[in-house]
Amino acid sequence: MHGPDSTHDPALRSWVESANEPTTDFPIQNLPFGRFRTHRNEPWRIGVAIGDQVLDLKLAAELCPWPARVSVWLEPLSAGNLNAFMALGARPRRALRAALSAALSEKSDQSPFLELCLVPQAQAQMSLPCDIGDYSDFFASIHHATSVGRLFRPDSPLMPNYEWVPIGYHGRASSIEVSGMHVPRPNGQYKLPDQERPIFGPSRRLDYELELGVLVGAGNDRGQPKTLLQAEEDWFGLVLLNDWSARDVQSWEYQPLGPFLAKSFATTISPWVVTQEALQPFRAPFQRDESRPPPLPYLESAANREYGHVDVHLEVWLQSAAMRERGQSPVRLSHSNFKDAAYWTIAQTMAHHTVNGCNLRPGDLLGTGTLSGATPEQGGSLLELSAGDWQPVILPGGETRSFLLDGDTVMLRAWCDRKGARRIGFGPCVGTIDPAVAWPPA
Ligand code: CA
Repeated sequence: MHGPDSTHDPALRSWVESANEPTTDFPIQNLPFGRFRTHRNEPWRIGVAIGDQVLDLKLAAELCPWPARVSVWLEPLSAGNLNAFMALGARPRRALRAALSAALSEKSDQSPFLELCLVPQAQAQMSLPCDIGDYSDFFASIHHATSVGRLFRPDSPLMPNYEWVPIGYHGRASSIEVSGMHVPRPNGQYKLPDQERPIFGPSRRLDYELELGVLVGAGNDRGQPKTLLQAEEDWFGLVLLNDWSARDVQSWEYQPLGPFLAKSFATTISPWVVTQEALQPFRAPFQRDESRPPPLPYLESAANREYGHVDVHLEVWLQSAAMRERGQSPVRLSHSNFKDAAYWTIAQTMAHHTVNGCNLRPGDLLGTGTLSGATPEQGGSLLELSAGDWQPVILPGGETRSFLLDGDTVMLRAWCDRKGARRIGFGPCVGTIDPAVAWPPA
């Protein structure tokens, strides 16, 4: 890992005034990448969030003088191709960050050019930040695995493999969309508790899952696994991820091959990729309870123990249709932290993913799994917060929820904050449940 540098200096200020607001998610110390356009007929291009603005990298490449190597990196970004930049690996990532940080800082002499390259975020339409070829979802919170396991298997909540192997499954990339998406309630097969045969219809137990998504930087050739050290270099950045889940469909279909239609109908991610470099001041040790076995050697290193985790605060907020009609703000349902929730680090899940020779490609998405904390109110899903429908969550205004209703808007938030560092945020990850499609059609 690269140590802190001048781009992390908490005293660094930008000539973009809104980036100096204490509450902004996007100060000059963050500089996340996103893909945007301002008109429907325009091609997508890559921008960097700064305060309440987007620095348009296509315009920046055209209008502003840059060192030659920076111009080379800006080329694919101008064309909206973040994957090509991701493929280049850690060194260009760090060098472009340094160049953008200098260009956006108060003392920059590039500001007269770059002032012409700002687009208000309010006018930017966002897409997925990159092309996501493959999506795998892990199960990295031992608290989530235990509390959900307890609902299904009270005697042995944690499966015996859990302590040893990062559990995951292959997700569906085609239904991943960016924040703001509407999710029709999925139809599917499920069994009601008192009935012998399954029925077909709209899911009655629709849920969200609070996760982070890891976007892969440089990939690996098939048959050439990544070491833990390479995996650490080669994750590009993080987004928020909501892994919508139909619990009734899931419990009927998941044995023996795992989740299928209960998860594949929709996944929502936040538009801005917070890079590994921006997260550098918030790295944290990988520590485990002494009762847990040490990881097998391919998942074990001094560097991973020293700073393998990332200290990211996470929140889930909900606004029902009735709350929206009354003009009532969303309510916070839970709060947890990535480093406390995750039993495995990002590098461990990535190294494990490739250890059989599987090739990851730039832009592939790895979900962490639901990031529930140790206590019941830190549950990263409604299934956990309502104790499997036994203790419904009470919303302001008196409504209750064990699962999501049509019109519910779920918003995930994340930020990093530590003494001696500038607070950075992820921007929201929002999705709204729409009524199910009538199926089969009349
Ligand atoms: Ca999940």
